[in-house]
Amino acid sequence: MKLINGKTIAATVKSEIANEVKTMIDAGRKTPHLVAVLVGTDSASETYVAAKERACKEVGFTSSVYKLSENITEKELLKTIELLNNDEGVDGYIVQLPLPKHIDTNAIISAIDPKKDVDGFHPQNVGRMVMDMPCFLPATPAGIITLLERSNIETEGKNCVVVGRSNIVGTPVSILLSRNSKKANCTVTLCHSRTKNLKEICASADILIAAIGKAEFITADMVKDGAVVIDVGIHRVNDNSEKGYKIVGDVKFDEVAPKSSFITPVPGGVGPMTIVSLLNNTLKAAKKS
Ligand code: NDP
Repeated sequence: MKLINGKTIAATVKSEIANEVKTMIDAGRKTPHLVAVLVGTDSASETYVAAKERACKEVGFTSSVYKLSENITEKELLKTIELLNNDEGVDGYIVQLPLPKHIDTNAIISAIDPKKDVDGFHPQNVGRMVMDMPCFLPATPAGIITLLERSNIETEGKNCVVVGRSNIVGTPVSILLSRNSKKANCTVTLCHSRTKNLKEICASADILIAAIGKAEFITADMVKDGAVVIDVGIHRVNDNSEKGYKIVGDVKFDEVAPKSSFITPVPGGVGPMTIVSLLNNTLKAAKKS
């Protein structure tokens, strides 16, 4: 079993981005600028946004956070979106999800200028991704592709099972891995909560991607010997440690790892790659602006 070290791969990609930023600045171009819009005080969202700010600093980007009240109206938020769309000093921005329930998330995402939509969630970017046209790829799926590629994992002709069909992870990663490209060309099965015989389908996978949102859901009996296992899940579960909790994924790591050829740990697997993909998209946006 080989551990896919997302932290190490992310550090390598970040240093490549930092070099590109330096070259851009030396050539007289402006520093790439990423903005995160944070509505309310959800603690997980605050943690993610803080991590994104730290990562921007590491690669030499400018970053700003627009902290908005939980009670902001949809109309007011749309005004902020319009300001960001028209602000030439902003290369890309993200609206941290989830948004409060009184706001229509799709209306907000659809209002983002697709050229600044570095999360890759705007319908235009999603459509272009499906058609294999230049676009901003969604961060977590793009990070998974980079992890596979940089770990020299052969994907061509492999049976890939993705568990979870969300718009931000499962569905886009299933599309990217089924593409006619050297870093994809998998035969993909996309599973969800209504899938029958989930265990058997998972056990047929050469590459198993777990994006279910249920702690330690994938057990050893669901995994084929020698499979590549990518665990997207992040869960905080209580334990007897000093901290009182630990972070686990959607995969029962201790029993699945010995059966797998490659596996991502949680934390330190997919998570760091998600942020790196966001930085990559921002760099791309800055180069175009
Ligand atoms: P969602 O809750 O949006 O989607 C979960 C998916 O899993 C749904 O499609 C659901 O099916 C499916 N599912 C739920 N229960 C079962 C079941 N018993 N059997 C089969 N399928 C099931 O989650 P996300 O995609 O947003 O996130 C998934 C996980 O990844 C979470 O733990 C999240 O925290 C983590 N995450 C991690 C990121 C990272 O950077 N590492 C980034 C984004 C997410 P149905 O559609 O039928 O309801």
